[in-house]
Amino acid sequence: MSDLVSIFLHLLLFKLVAPVTFRHHRYDDLVRMLYKVHNECPHITRVYSIGRSVKGRHLYVLEFSDYPGIHEPLEPEVKYVGNMHGNEVLGRELLLQLSEFLCEEFRNRNQRIVRLVEDTRIHIMPSMNPDGYEVAAAAQERDISGYLVGRNNANGVDLNRNFPDLNTYIYYNEKNGGPNHHLPLPDNWKSQVEPETQAVIQWIRSFNFVLSANLHGGAVVANYPYDKSLGHRVRGFRRTANTPTPDDKLFQKLAKIYSYAHGWMHQGWNCGDYFPDGITNGASWYSLSKGMQDFNYLHTNCFEITLELSCDKFPLQGELQREWLGNREALIQFLEQVNFQLKRSTPQAAPKRKIPNSGHRGRVLPKKVQPRAARKKETMMKQPQRGPA
Ligand SMILES: [Zn+2]
Repeated sequence: MSDLVSIFLHLLLFKLVAPVTFRHHRYDDLVRMLYKVHNECPHITRVYSIGRSVKGRHLYVLEFSDYPGIHEPLEPEVKYVGNMHGNEVLGRELLLQLSEFLCEEFRNRNQRIVRLVEDTRIHIMPSMNPDGYEVAAAAQERDISGYLVGRNNANGVDLNRNFPDLNTYIYYNEKNGGPNHHLPLPDNWKSQVEPETQAVIQWIRSFNFVLSANLHGGAVVANYPYDKSLGHRVRGFRRTANTPTPDDKLFQKLAKIYSYAHGWMHQGWNCGDYFPDGITNGASWYSLSKGMQDFNYLHTNCFEITLELSCDKFPLQGELQREWLGNREALIQFLEQVNFQLKRSTPQAAPKRKIPNSGHRGRVLPKKVQPRAARKKETMMKQPQRGPA
């Protein structure tokens, strides 16, 4: 009986503290939501923009921290980026739900959330491609079901194929010697990338991000670097081949933490694909050049994974609550890993690292130098593909 009472009270509490509406948010609505959360939790949040899209929409970020706007020594920075592909919208809605959840639970003195906000600086960008989203949402309203409508930015560019290609350098350096981290940007990089990409690169360079996830849709799997295969091109396509980073174990662990905390990702069979443990090396699924996750790792040592969260890229409104409940624990647990797996402090705190700290904003680098020959490489069967995710 007491159990039933406690369940009832829990449900009541959740209902009272989470006045979340499960619906899709157009740009103006999204901006309102971010400021609403900020107004509800002004002491632990800050809204800022990292730049503008092609059509002039702001790329807004909501920050959570006990001292918003201030980098505290020893406090790791972590980020979530959603809706990079404008038509993949679940991440955008989940990040709005997460923002409201963090605010409400902090106000309710949920000790787990209080600790997370006090120990971590969390940056949440619900949409990296607001222009693409508006195209996708308008098409949905008119019942136009183009699989890729709204995927690209307003210049027709796929933002997850638009970052400087640092993989070519790293693969060359692994063979011939040379740095394997903090690879520099090409001199003319700004002229080669879109406004959204440029804003994100400048953002990545100006914060101490150590952990990140990029939320997509079209499959259900946690995808970790490298995305670009080392394999040769065959008829214009790069061969699908497992292409691990020197930090493969840690990346697999991070991906598994998400997939096992997720309601069903870890089961493996989703959307007609099978991924053991619900995770995959990017290049062993399909090879992708100039992606954001490889860039994060190679340019700044931020550990980013790509989360594919729904079979349907634009899920019906009625599915959003189930998706939130399926992802909520995983989104929180992943953030917590920044303190469990990746805590960086002073150089003295990590005596086992094998490469010297480059002095990049005082961060300690966990990446191991490992000869390429020692890496386990295997060619895997190409998974049945439903189109780019
Ligand atoms: Zn995508």
